[in-house]
Amino acid sequence: MPGTKPEIEMLNTDILVIGGGSAGCMAAIAASDAAPDLDITILEKANIRRSGTLATGMDALNIVAVPGLSTPEEYVKGTDLDHLREVIDEDLHYVLAEKSFAMLKKLEQWGVEFEKDDTGQYVGTPTFYGPYPGNFTILMEGLDLKLILSREVAKRRITVLNHTITTSLLSDNNSVYGSCGFNIRNGKFIVCSAKAVIMAAGGCGRFGMPSSGYMYGTFDFPGNAGDGYSMAYRAGAQLRNFEYVQHFVEIKKLNVPLGKGYDSECETKMINEHGEEIEWRDGSDEDEVKLLLSGESVYERFSHLPEEDIKKIEEIWFNSERKHSIISFFRERKIDIRKDDIEYGFEDISLCSGHGSSGIKVDTETATSLKGLYAAGDVACVPVQYLSGAFVYGEIAGQSAAKYAEKCNTREIDHELIQNQADKIFAQLDRSDGIKPKDFELRLRNMITEYLAPPRNAEKLETALKWIEKFRNEDVENLKVEDLHELGKAVEARFILDCAEMTARSALKRQETRWGKSDFRTDFPERDDKNWLKFVDLKMDHKTGEMTIFTSPIKRRKSKEQK
Ligand SMILES: Cc1cc2nc3c(=O)[nH]c(=O)nc-3n(C[C@H](O)[C@H](O)[C@H](O)COP(=O)(O)OP(=O)(O)OC[C@H]3O[C@@H](n4cnc5c(N)ncnc54)[C@H](O)[C@@H]3O)c2cc1C
Repeated sequence: MPGTKPEIEMLNTDILVIGGGSAGCMAAIAASDAAPDLDITILEKANIRRSGTLATGMDALNIVAVPGLSTPEEYVKGTDLDHLREVIDEDLHYVLAEKSFAMLKKLEQWGVEFEKDDTGQYVGTPTFYGPYPGNFTILMEGLDLKLILSREVAKRRITVLNHTITTSLLSDNNSVYGSCGFNIRNGKFIVCSAKAVIMAAGGCGRFGMPSSGYMYGTFDFPGNAGDGYSMAYRAGAQLRNFEYVQHFVEIKKLNVPLGKGYDSECETKMINEHGEEIEWRDGSDEDEVKLLLSGESVYERFSHLPEEDIKKIEEIWFNSERKHSIISFFRERKIDIRKDDIEYGFEDISLCSGHGSSGIKVDTETATSLKGLYAAGDVACVPVQYLSGAFVYGEIAGQSAAKYAEKCNTREIDHELIQNQADKIFAQLDRSDGIKPKDFELRLRNMITEYLAPPRNAEKLETALKWIEKFRNEDVENLKVEDLHELGKAVEARFILDCAEMTARSALKRQETRWGKSDFRTDFPERDDKNWLKFVDLKMDHKTGEMTIFTSPIKRRKSKEQK
């Protein structure tokens, strides 16, 4: 491979979808259904049959406003006060809830089963920790949901290029007209010109380091490295909420969603590091912040429970959405909850709008601040939108992009620009000396854990920025790769570095603590509504190449009288 020049392949499509995960597949399907004559192409760095966060299945659709059970208004209120603490663009959440039931029905038609009671009514469980009404979480049989989605893609006239990593967007004058990337298997440099582009590349799962020390043992899907954030940022898009990091208390070193809530019917005991029994309310911000500031772990004890309860807990745990990781974790470590306590603590920080808040700023049509660029799923800023948001807004993105593509023309591609990009990326294969991408990524992510994970303060954030500058100037331009797989990792390391800068600068800007474990600042430990009831946004200044940080107002829904 060293010394080779990549073969360049030019493609033309009407709608380009970057990332074939939950949102990307749904977007391509919706675009095809809205405009069957358009050419639609998905570029996916893995294989859409089993790629993305949905790859190993999912237990529930977390936001569904089932008529008669709960309303979109209740959802907006709950998410505003419980999750977002009043820094909200309400329309985004209203539209999500409003369209969520139709999405459930669509999934049912594709063969997904949702939980119902004996009368045939859907069973919803509470979504919010606080005292807000609404049972929006509907359990489902979702282990093969990704396969179902990819089958729906295959039924339509949609071209899928698997194993193709997108490395940049083609853009100028505030508009996007395609992408560059390469096939990780055969090394072809793929240039795709498109009338409309949908960014659906997920969040940044590989950000902080998990407690297991495994680079890929992350809470979120580790294949997503902030690719979409970085590419959109470099094309000039506006992004939002990067001071908010996902930060969960999980079973240490297992790091999957399996908190105490999963066995809440059984009377287990919670014990602190000093062996004392404590009260622990799963999902309570107060308890979690106390734990965060103590830097300690808590332990769950089961040994006093009757065998019947133990079996009930094991039955739930070993059949949940991450069952393969869970079963092997318990088996390999020979953990038996009949006698062993389970340790819980804070795990890796990451960025995404599925459980978190960060993303490319979008409106309710999924339009970004750049013409021709739409965004949906964890990459788009619809905070705490879960799988429901990826599907609802994926569908809207497909429809919006189809409408846009039908009325515009394909742009000419500048071949010199393409050749330069290809040469720059592939030059890393020719370097005789330098840092391995894996070593660089480990260094970078250890720095992220040390300086960007809450609790943090101005000094830590300034230190992070110094490291980021050093990584940018000295290391990232000096990566040495030996094969195409490593070349992909080198590209991803740059994406993670951009995300680190977004978080460091945004966190410095917000001089308060609003979301507890997700943004705690020891130098500004209180919530400050007088000054900070607003968004922190960012953008690249194309004249200087610097990241600019600014604030934008929150948006309330217009009442009927105002409309
Ligand atoms: C552990 C866990 C459990 C969850 N459980 C639930 C649940 O029970 N209920 C619920 O409602 N929600 C749940 N969620 C949230 C939900 O799964 C996500 O919000 C949703 O799947 C995100 O979809 P997405 O399309 O944005 O990202 P993904 O599905 O991750 O798709 C992104 C795709 O883009 C591809 N990609 C990335 N970069 C590139 C690139 N440069 N070039 C080409 N392709 C690229 C990736 O390979 C991937 O296929 C859970 C999330 C996690 C992490």
